[in-house]
Amino acid sequence: MPDPSPCTAHDGSVESMADCLFCKILAGDIPSKEVASTERTYVFHDINPAAPVHVLVIPREHITNAAEIREDHGDILVEMMRTAYEVAEKLGIAETGYRLVFNVGDHALNSVPHLHMHVLGGHQMGWPPG
Ligand code: ZN
Repeated sequence: MPDPSPCTAHDGSVESMADCLFCKILAGDIPSKEVASTERTYVFHDINPAAPVHVLVIPREHITNAAEIREDHGDILVEMMRTAYEVAEKLGIAETGYRLVFNVGDHALNSVPHLHMHVLGGHQMGWPPG
């Protein structure tokens, strides 16, 4: 069962946040190509794009992954979705369509343990994704 206490109070989470790649990007310690910045989210270009448009929407709060989402993360999730749409409009893929992806765990190749939503678009995609 997920710990009901705030993420920042999880044992060891202070260390993991200090080592977290995306927390470092949020702090400006590691450079990124910014696309958008909102109160609860930050959006930047994926360094290894898998589509003509490939950006990551991350919450400013350190949440490990989608499996750690709790009811009180609702506002963050809504803002992530709204920001994804605004970014899709800004990058010209809102009309043609885009895919939103959360990966969880090894089989899904979730490589950074800080919640991030992939926004992919700009070409015709296939299904199933593999
Ligand atoms: Zn983080």
